[in-house]
Amino acid sequence: MSTPKYASINGEIVAWENANVHVASAGFKFGTAVFEGLRGYWNSDNEEMYLFRMQEHMQRFEFSQRFMRFDELFLGDTVTQKTIELIHANKFKGENLHIMTTAYVSGMGGPGVCGPIGLSITAQERPRSDRVLGGVTAQVSSWMRVPDNAMPMRVKCNANYNNGRLATVQAEADGYDTAIFLNSRGKVSEGPGMCLFIIRDGVPITPSISNDILESVTRDSVLRIIERTYGETPIERDIDRSELVAAEEAFFCGTAWEITPILSIDRIKIGTGQIGMMTKQLQDKFFFISEGRDTQYSNWCHPVYKTD
Ligand code: PMP
Repeated sequence: MSTPKYASINGEIVAWENANVHVASAGFKFGTAVFEGLRGYWNSDNEEMYLFRMQEHMQRFEFSQRFMRFDELFLGDTVTQKTIELIHANKFKGENLHIMTTAYVSGMGGPGVCGPIGLSITAQERPRSDRVLGGVTAQVSSWMRVPDNAMPMRVKCNANYNNGRLATVQAEADGYDTAIFLNSRGKVSEGPGMCLFIIRDGVPITPSISNDILESVTRDSVLRIIERTYGETPIERDIDRSELVAAEEAFFCGTAWEITPILSIDRIKIGTGQIGMMTKQLQDKFFFISEGRDTQYSNWCHPVYKTD
């Protein structure tokens, strides 16, 4: 990702190199921070940038802050406005963006400190990665997904991400692109930073939200798109490890991963070992919708430049 000119700290636009937090803050020391990652999709035909499902991301952002008992909450409307200001300041046009909004404890006490809270926003150009189109290989990790009663993955807390880091580093060391977690019950959970679907006998299935997953906005989008496109209700349930290989198609989904085909798991081909037909259809549909090209889904796409 390229380095932009400006970032936003506590609502002020600052030079990128001045967007700092103190090393003694709880946000830095303990990862006492929560964040959202979301995308801006550029539509070259109408010269517009669309924030994809901003409202849902902001609802989750508010929930994460409340759950962590932060003294002060940054509400969705304020953060949306500050995000738009930052995009305007950087004059982003022509490329998709990856945006991060983070609320962090800038206070310097122990792990129980709940304030003051800082807000940072960064936006960087992020072209679609080759692996989204080309697909990835995955390893079922020997690391377990952190259970909800230890550290809920439903809360997008920065510290959680070291669980994903262990699995990612292990998968890469073993020659895979990424990892798939099982949870404490031995059921399929999610990837380090993305959810997962399999297709069995033509039916899309995804782990239910009680499987130690983040309640992903993209997962929800895929569920809604499947309902509308195929007129069938996708299945949310436990998935056994062996079903990963029994599936004829599998894909990851998430803000960064969009819809990414899984070509093999533990070096066993999924289906033909190429992108599956339903995965490809959903991917095309998802790209079309996120660029604000489908009027049925225009409430998912928040325009950045035509609001003023
Ligand atoms: N699971 C985890 C652990 C994640 O970090 C992410 C990325 N936010 C996802 C799933 C996908 O969530 P979303 O579609 O909301 O980006």
